[in-house]
Amino acid sequence: MLRLNDIVDRVQAARPGCDIELIHKAYVFTAKVHHGQLRQSGEPYLIHPLNVAFILANWNLDEETIVTGLLHDTVEDTVATVDEIRDLFGDTVAQMVDGVSKISRVVISDVADQKAESLRKMILAMGKDLRVVLVKLADRLHNMRTIGHLSRDKQVAVARETQDIYNPIASRLGMSRVKIEFEDRCFEVLHPEDYRELVRLADERKRDRESHVRSVVEMLEKKLAEAKVEAVVKGRSKHIAGMFQKMARQGIDFDHIYDFIGFRIIAKSVGECYEALGIVHSLWKPVPGRFKDYIAMPKPNLYQSLHTTVFGPNAELMEIQIRTEEMNAIAEYGVAAHWKYKEGRPVVGKGDQMFLWLRQILELQQEMKDPREFLNTVKVELFPEEVYVFTPRGDVKELPQGATTIDFAYAVHTEVGNTCVGAKINGKMVPLRTMLKNGDVVEIVTHPAHKPSKDWLKVAKTSRALNKIRVFVREEQQERSLALGKQMLERELRKHSLSMNKVLKSKEFEETLQEQRLKSPDDYCVALGYGKMSLLPLLRRLVPPEQLHEKVKDSRLGALIRRVTAAKPSAIIVKGMDDIFIRLGNCCHPVPGDPIIGFITRGRGVTIHAKDCPKALDNDPARAIDVAWEAGTKASHPVKLKVVCADKPGLLADISRTITASDVDIRRATVLTTRDKRAICNFEVSVNDAQHLAALIKSIEKLKNVFSVERGKG
Ligand code: MN
Repeated sequence: MLRLNDIVDRVQAARPGCDIELIHKAYVFTAKVHHGQLRQSGEPYLIHPLNVAFILANWNLDEETIVTGLLHDTVEDTVATVDEIRDLFGDTVAQMVDGVSKISRVVISDVADQKAESLRKMILAMGKDLRVVLVKLADRLHNMRTIGHLSRDKQVAVARETQDIYNPIASRLGMSRVKIEFEDRCFEVLHPEDYRELVRLADERKRDRESHVRSVVEMLEKKLAEAKVEAVVKGRSKHIAGMFQKMARQGIDFDHIYDFIGFRIIAKSVGECYEALGIVHSLWKPVPGRFKDYIAMPKPNLYQSLHTTVFGPNAELMEIQIRTEEMNAIAEYGVAAHWKYKEGRPVVGKGDQMFLWLRQILELQQEMKDPREFLNTVKVELFPEEVYVFTPRGDVKELPQGATTIDFAYAVHTEVGNTCVGAKINGKMVPLRTMLKNGDVVEIVTHPAHKPSKDWLKVAKTSRALNKIRVFVREEQQERSLALGKQMLERELRKHSLSMNKVLKSKEFEETLQEQRLKSPDDYCVALGYGKMSLLPLLRRLVPPEQLHEKVKDSRLGALIRRVTAAKPSAIIVKGMDDIFIRLGNCCHPVPGDPIIGFITRGRGVTIHAKDCPKALDNDPARAIDVAWEAGTKASHPVKLKVVCADKPGLLADISRTITASDVDIRRATVLTTRDKRAICNFEVSVNDAQHLAALIKSIEKLKNVFSVERGKG
């Protein structure tokens, strides 16, 4: 078990001449007031404050912080009071203990507001003294280390809170050691199976990995020694959560084990860092564009290091960081490392870059009377990819950047989304497509009879809103198609004096269903209403041919069929259908040979898009239909071409000549010249098919001074 002396030894080593008496006194006090209390594990409660103090001692923090660590739960969980602590340990410690208690008291009322509200409390508490947050981080670290004793539900809740609130703070304060431990421990709780699997895989390849690390380290050490650069080389694999992120983000599988190992060179001086970099680049070829000099240009949280990626001994991508010892301490302990290298007062100091961000926030806190405004500023700093807006009642809603009022409406409630007709931002009516900005107060105007429109799909950003709109639109279309299909069927049958009820029960109808692979009469009517299918196959079964022709001619369907046969514009076979009106997508201009897909458009037949056309992906998949190009047809198809070339006289004429020489008509051409002496030519040409087009592109590409030829989209 951890003893007080372990803590005292640490503090004394880091800070000779500090007030050890104060630490002793705090220990005695906390042992007394926590006496008899037990942790979930059954151990004496005292173990927890001792461990928190030990973590703080390992971060080389001062005695006041360590005393606060020892006392941090006394006000919250025992009979001790802030006044008592002030009498015994002074004002600073009392204020810090009070601050930590206040953070601990944050009540989690509403899940959606939890992050914002806890953060606000935390930052307000930290306003007095940044060390409060360090104590809270140490507290959470020990709680995460001992999380196994909690119930499963509690574990998940604590891990989520750590991930949402403590991890971003650790990260912002540059405390990467803490951040990595939080990430791994949260990952273990929240994704236990993935965690175990990765640990197993990492163990399996341990020997390979270790021998690889050893050989790289030895090689580097040898070269550094030859160049008389004094440095320590370390190699280690990424932490488990980091491996998972890398696998997910870059799609690397675990067999590429070397990709998960990074190397670090800790040199004595900045000059030697650059020397070491030269040695690394002479040993292995650097990957272009991957070198970063954070020594010359430190990150906002004062992180400094050289980063490079080289092709390692197994041709794998090998990441190497090079920095001095002091830079390394700041990289690992961030704000906390500051106390070691800059003696003196740890309170947010003037002219101290490390605290620039914090200082700005604290000043804001004093200036801003409205807590919403303050909160919103802070949240933007911590989570730049999110937008925080408010309901008129002051509840916080968190949405991704670019979210619109429709996303907001659906974030409030599905019904609010489904019936929204307009929105007010900060009291002013705005269009529904308006993008939200941080701090906006958004009010949604609803009308019970209003329904979502398909156009909203272009406006919504969040998957929640998109899904709800899609479901609604699809259901509604289904309903409408059903009603329309029923009408069409009924009217057609009436013309032939057939009874709907009898037909639906007939053998002929059953056969038609089977042929069309439909399950029920409703499905049949929906397909009919969509225009996906014609009534003819059924009517042919029920009505003699000579009668059929005449009657059908007079129907709406007949009108459609007439139009279709008269205006068949191209050589597309629509699979499973004989006659249908066909149109080529205006956006993607598919030509024969391109992979294509068709969409039923009511009243307009079928529209054909290239399979990768963004418009095609927008369409309702329920309306998709298989289409294919008919073989061996020659027809001319319009295509757009974008040619980027040098802005040289005569070149445009050359290109035009090449196009016409390929037996291609130019329908239109525009040329734009850029400031860097390039010309962007947009041609609209007619080609027979994809092959014809490919040959044309090739011959233009061969021309001198042509940089690129692309098929135009949109
Ligand atoms: Mn605690």
